[in-house]
Amino acid sequence: MRTAVVLFTRDLRVNDQPALATACATAEQVVPLFVLDPQLAGRSANRDRFLRQSLADLRATLRGLGGDLLIRRGDPVAETVRLAREVDADGVAVSADVSHYARDRQRRLSDECERHRIAFRAFPGLTVVDPGALTPTNGDHYKVFTPYFRAWAGADWRTAYAAPERIRLPGGPGVGRLPAVPDGESPQAAAGGETVGRRRLRDWLGDLDRYGDSHDDLAGDATSRLSPYLRFGCLSPLEVATAAGDRAGPFVRQLCWRDFHYQVANAFPDLATTAYRRGAAEQWRYDADALDAWQTGHTGVPIVDAGMRQLRAQGWMHNRARLITAGYLTKELGLDWRDGLSWFGRWLLDGDLPNNSGNWQWVAGTGNDTRPYRGFNPLRQAHRFDPAGEYVRRWVPELASVAGAAVHEPWRLPLAVRAGLDYPPPLSDR
Ligand code: FAD
Repeated sequence: MRTAVVLFTRDLRVNDQPALATACATAEQVVPLFVLDPQLAGRSANRDRFLRQSLADLRATLRGLGGDLLIRRGDPVAETVRLAREVDADGVAVSADVSHYARDRQRRLSDECERHRIAFRAFPGLTVVDPGALTPTNGDHYKVFTPYFRAWAGADWRTAYAAPERIRLPGGPGVGRLPAVPDGESPQAAAGGETVGRRRLRDWLGDLDRYGDSHDDLAGDATSRLSPYLRFGCLSPLEVATAAGDRAGPFVRQLCWRDFHYQVANAFPDLATTAYRRGAAEQWRYDADALDAWQTGHTGVPIVDAGMRQLRAQGWMHNRARLITAGYLTKELGLDWRDGLSWFGRWLLDGDLPNNSGNWQWVAGTGNDTRPYRGFNPLRQAHRFDPAGEYVRRWVPELASVAGAAVHEPWRLPLAVRAGLDYPPPLSDR
């Protein structure tokens, strides 16, 4: 092949990037392209920021390899085909993705390429194991995690691709200006890009041994925080899983949850809007004041408020806090999981359709949980996963003066102490 265009989407890396690696191995000239799609812009200021930082990093890396990242604006299909024709490309490559939107984009791109007699190919790379690659004997996807995990851990994983050594761009097309990096909404949000992500991975591997015992410790903050880098493909999930080693270990198991939700979304693309479990009882309340108290972290339940404040401050929330806050919204307040999903979708740097929807449905009891009526008593969770109250004091400064575990139940404090705290009573008592 003479010239290939590689359309980047959320696979913003050069290491183990199958579409890029294959294009570089088979074509003389390669055009790395990213199209800023107005249809996808403005959903999350935090993710817009992370994306643009990742694009800047990717461009710098590609330039270091002798190439560049071309930037266009508009419909990704029209822009990709326009550029492919401009450089007289004979091939277009992209990473396969599972959302309605991504699948439609891939189908349209494939059709347009065919119309212009350009070879088109979609590559793996967004998950460790391709969604749809593993199927149970009685269905098109796994509905329950544990058997999926068994099949996943025992499957043959593809071999990771090395980063290309050199990229040769054809002369001619302008490279296009990188979009400016906006502020985002969360002051403590992590910075995007493969370079930062790889550094984070390297540092994190040194802490891996602690993960099994401490990943649920809210104050310990002992999880990898790699999720935004996986969300934007700054890191290859296969590389992360392989680097972690033990396939049966607790960390790699969490990566399998990610793949699990992808294969569910692949089989059930309405996951963000429609109850996955047929016949799930959906009788939600719609209470704007309660929703607002939850969103802003003023429910009067400290462990819930702490999680919601962390989300706003960092564009990220500890997994245990996600479980507690989502459980509180759906099981205690009885509010619709879709409202929680869209609030998380606005703030989370790692927010994506399969994982956000899959986890929300799991907690709400409409999804893949085999125990859909499971409760999440926030108080019990608080005492178990934040026994000294440190996590709450960190994120709810109004309660910083309350020592120890008493911080979880400010309503039990002596009246005189309570009166001095600028903190509301629990929603259910108001
Ligand atoms: P670690 O504990 O270090 O785990 C390593 C990786 O495994 C994570 O980066 C992530 O890619 C994957 N992982 C871990 N737990 C899960 C899980 N339960 N489901 C799927 N993948 C998992 N994760 C997202 O990536 N995007 C989301 O939009 C998202 N929304 C969520 C919404 C709710 C209501 C809940 C309960 C969980 C959600 N999660 C989501 C899953 C999980 O909370 C985050 O992946 C995790 O907290 C990210 O932090 P980490 O990278 O430090 O995780």
